[in-house]
Amino acid sequence: NVSKLYGTQRALDQVSFEINSGEIVGLLGPNGAGKSTMMKIITCYLTQSEGEVSVNGFDVQKDSLKVRSFVGYLPENNPLYHDMYVKEYLAFVAGMYKIPRAKQRVQEMVDLVGLEVEQHKKIGALSKGYRQRVGIAQAMIHDPKVIILDEPTSGLDPLQLEQIRGLIHAIGQEKTVMLSTHIMQEVEALCSRVIIINKGKIVADKPVSLIRSEFGSNRYNLKVELAAKIDGQLFKEIVGVEKVLQKSDTHLVLEITSTDDIRDKVFQFAVKQNLTVLTIQKEEQSMEDVFKQFTN
Ligand code: ADP
Ligand code: MG
Repeated sequence: NVSKLYGTQRALDQVSFEINSGEIVGLLGPNGAGKSTMMKIITCYLTQSEGEVSVNGFDVQKDSLKVRSFVGYLPENNPLYHDMYVKEYLAFVAGMYKIPRAKQRVQEMVDLVGLEVEQHKKIGALSKGYRQRVGIAQAMIHDPKVIILDEPTSGLDPLQLEQIRGLIHAIGQEKTVMLSTHIMQEVEALCSRVIIINKGKIVADKPVSLIRSEFGSNRYNLKVELAAKIDGQLFKEIVGVEKVLQKSDTHLVLEITSTDDIRDKVFQFAVKQNLTVLTIQKEEQSMEDVFKQFTN
């Protein structure tokens, strides 16, 4: 039941969830939904206005140092000291956590996140993808049980994106991970579960495998191609056809609201009208559609 007020604005409104050990959970929502606020509370950077949060059994307010000792955090926009050298910075972070054999641990992190080639450079000289690796190394240096990543892939080019997703996927094999994003595909690629948040409230909390089927099951499109020119609005007669988009003289998109597959009805209707059907293709809802459905 966590709420967070900024002045009079309720950035989080009675949010409740539980994440089990080993899960990779995507916190998904549009800008301003409250994702970063939630993450800052879990990582003890902000205190909630109402409600309780505990990590690994420890309360974030009463045992904040304890919680920080087993939580790793990559904040949004990955703030780093650009004038520091990569290993100098990681050694500095290791010092804050009082990690024994810090030098060895820094080298392990450099190897783990793939910073070997860039390890002797200043952070300011690195590309965004490599800076992100430094941020992830920093978040993992104290071997935390729980990793919180706030928009870890935003602003990366496609190759960097793939590499960072690969790294997060590997981390997820051993740790409990929560990452935020506003990209539905990212959740699909990385997470086992998605929590969708909108305007400070949870609007869905489901396994990723269910989210598309459950919410796409009563709405789909049919792409219909006919042999000759046709006024597509005719097809509105069919029960379940909500809307007809005329893509060209012979191409239609029928927007269907029905839990049944009505392709046979469409076919039979066309035959009755003496129309020759070349193709009928069913299109599943895209992940963007699902996202919009929840957040609009
Ligand atoms: P998200 O990470 O999902 O984009 P945030 O948690 O950053 O969302 O923000 C949620 C809402 O709270 C936004 O409307 C934002 O403007 C507001 N907000 C965030 N941080 C502060 C702050 N420090 N002071 C005032 N308002 C804030
Ligand atoms: Mg944010």
